[in-house]
Amino acid sequence: RPMIRLSGVGKTYDDGTVAVQQLDLEVQRGELVCLVGPSGCGKSTTLKMINRLIEPTTGSIEIDGQDVTGQDPVEMRRGIGYVIQQVGLFPHQKIIQNVMTVPLLYGESKAKARQRATELLELVGLDPATYADRYPHQLSGGQQQRVGVARALAANPPVLLMDEPFGAVDPIVRLRLQDEFLRLQDELGVTVVFVTHDIDEAVRLGDRVAVFATGGRLAQYDTPARLLGR
Ligand code: ADP
Ligand code: ADP
Repeated sequence: RPMIRLSGVGKTYDDGTVAVQQLDLEVQRGELVCLVGPSGCGKSTTLKMINRLIEPTTGSIEIDGQDVTGQDPVEMRRGIGYVIQQVGLFPHQKIIQNVMTVPLLYGESKAKARQRATELLELVGLDPATYADRYPHQLSGGQQQRVGVARALAANPPVLLMDEPFGAVDPIVRLRLQDEFLRLQDELGVTVVFVTHDIDEAVRLGDRVAVFATGGRLAQYDTPARLLGR
């Protein structure tokens, strides 16, 4: 069965804005799916519905076969990592503490949490010996995004949701982050839904790409090769 299944999902905001309509979307285990389309076409809304930050108006969402609307949102989010453009690191905590927060919150011992955080920093390409004890403002934008990815992975989530995670970094750094992220995702086998407005990024990263059209409708859902007619 798919890791994520959206069936007939729609969202109309209280002010009447129709953000998403009749969305059917399946993401297989270990797959990296990019949601792409122009600004305002409902990508973020879709991601927030999967993460239960927003309730759908219609339809249902299943994660690993479980209808998430029937679950406690806080409990459910333990299995989901979430990375946004403004990663929001805790400014007064060292990098290592920022990454340890999640495992500690879930009852991991301090020693284990520190070990896991150190491994994760390594994994996202930040040498722990250099960066663990720095504060967020001492890191570049690209480096802060890496910390955000490490923090999101700290709870070992089977699902990772990313909303324009590399949107605020310059193009050269972004290419590097994309490459590194692809390797990381492959290694961990985590299921990823990745929102971007950049079609190049979507095609580069996605095993499949969901193209949204204005009005929150899914226009196409296919592999990059087939979308590009190759
Ligand atoms: P995208 O991520 O593709 O840019 P969004 O999901 O953020 O699109 O937004 C989809 C539509 O819903 C847009 O028209 C946006 O203005 C509207 N929208 C987003 N959030 C809200 C909200 N809280 N209240 C009302 N309308 C919203
Ligand atoms: P990136 O290519 O990852 O965006 P930058 O060119 O912004 O990196 O930064 C280059 C180096 O300068 C990095 O090693 C970073 O840690 C360091 N650096 C950036 N901002 C600061 C700061 N405010 N204090 C200390 N070191 C910094």
